[in-house]
Amino acid sequence: MRNDMFDRRGLLRAGLVAGGLAAGTAAGGALFAQAAAGVAPDERPGTPDAAWAALREGNRRWASGAATHPHQDAARRAALAQKQDPFAVVFSCIDSRVPPELVFDTGLGDLFVLRTAGHTIDPLVTGSAEYGPAELGTPLVVVLGHQRCGAVTAAAESLQEHRKLPGELNRIATSLQSAYKRSGGDVDKMIRLNTIDVVNQLKKDKLFAPRIAKGKLKVIGGYYSIDTYEVTRLV
Ligand SMILES: [Zn+2]
Repeated sequence: MRNDMFDRRGLLRAGLVAGGLAAGTAAGGALFAQAAAGVAPDERPGTPDAAWAALREGNRRWASGAATHPHQDAARRAALAQKQDPFAVVFSCIDSRVPPELVFDTGLGDLFVLRTAGHTIDPLVTGSAEYGPAELGTPLVVVLGHQRCGAVTAAAESLQEHRKLPGELNRIATSLQSAYKRSGGDVDKMIRLNTIDVVNQLKKDKLFAPRIAKGKLKVIGGYYSIDTYEVTRLV
């Protein structure tokens, strides 16, 4: 239902609807649904907490098999043709089972998405993470680890056996070395520790820290279960 409101909004903005109340019934339902979710109707979440609430609500829909796959129709595309204003940055693994737009049931224009193996980070990736909050005021950054991460597992095995991964893959193992040492060889613990490490690193980012201090930005860590499809907050 929620997407109906956005769709109508997009149509109105694009000047494609002569009668503004054409989608009135659906919009009324969307109004109720958004109020229940703590998200103001007819605008993207503007605060860190509202953004997280919207992501949690989307993940509940996904996990329960009630995903709406919002914000993908012609009206939304038209509304986004000249500008974007996503409400969150999600930094996740490349794993094909964990696409952020799906697990948070979002659509076009909702998220900036960064993905690297094991959501390992370096200055180039940090620059991409900075773009939304620094340039557009995006209020939330979510670092998303996940169950049975193949990249973290491969890195753990390589570090345990003192065997370098081929090519540039070994940079991933090097990046995960600290989490490996503290995990005691427990891969799931290593996944969670790495997620928290990346959150802490981003919190110290020179562009993020002042925005966090002013309450304009939150950087949080989540863990996605491949078994239950649910995201739980780690930090
Ligand atoms: Zn992974």
